[in-house]
Amino acid sequence: MADTYLKLHDGFPENRKVVAAGGDAAWLHVCALAYASRNLTDGLIPEGVVPRLSDRKQPTKLATKLVEVGLWHKAGHDCPRCPEPGVGEYLIHDYLHHQRSAAKVEEIKGKRAISGSKGGAQKAANAQAGAKQNPSNLLGGSYDAAEANDYPDTDTDTDTDTEEKEPPSSGGRAADISPEIVEAVDRVCDHLAQRIVANGCKPPTVGTRWRDAARLMMTADGRTEQQIHAAIDWCQNDEFWRSHVMSMPKLREKYDALRLQASAKKGRGSPPPAAPPATSPRDRWMERQ
Ligand SMILES: [Zn+2]
Repeated sequence: MADTYLKLHDGFPENRKVVAAGGDAAWLHVCALAYASRNLTDGLIPEGVVPRLSDRKQPTKLATKLVEVGLWHKAGHDCPRCPEPGVGEYLIHDYLHHQRSAAKVEEIKGKRAISGSKGGAQKAANAQAGAKQNPSNLLGGSYDAAEANDYPDTDTDTDTDTEEKEPPSSGGRAADISPEIVEAVDRVCDHLAQRIVANGCKPPTVGTRWRDAARLMMTADGRTEQQIHAAIDWCQNDEFWRSHVMSMPKLREKYDALRLQASAKKGRGSPPPAAPPATSPRDRWMERQ
């Protein structure tokens, strides 16, 4: 709960539906997104909750406005992209296309727990079994994966942190990530985890945040697997950096700083004493920069 995030598209303020709804209704909408995320409702908002969502006046009027412009739905709506809410409920349009479903959140929690404890592993197995039985978790309705890939409407889609992509196996926008990348992600995550343990620290939790950071280093930042591997070796061999880079997101954040330091140290001609000069990970890493 403490570190969950919404996605809001950076075009949200200019979205035609948002503009049509007006600022007060838009704020109610944002508060509703936060409510649905906190409470894992898959986008459902009970009518009775609406007055408590925000400090805006006339919340019921604002909710009606949101339904009019198509940001929210009521029972009997005709939006082909969204399942049907119950009577006395609103449904945030496209919620599950952009935000995490309750099943997905449980699955992630389970995966994070896997490396924490055996109890966690059991919980994760249960969560994954549940996710398999009900892959789309759609309020009793269903939509297919092709629709989830269809991305014309940006109402609720904004990335507020780096943890924005689904694992490739679960469909959605990350479905076009190649199996090679997926395997490379696992390899670099394992490598960093092993190096951290080899330095005498407790085993880190390799979860979605780690894998997302590793994948983005390759797909968004243009690093190769070998470069990431070498950067891991370099920082874990460095007395200062090994205590500062204890996770894949941190490695991604500090990558350029590491690269520049490795470059500067190399320039001063002071290779680490234990490393053979031409074949050390640092040198191999530097050669590729
Ligand atoms: Zn809809």
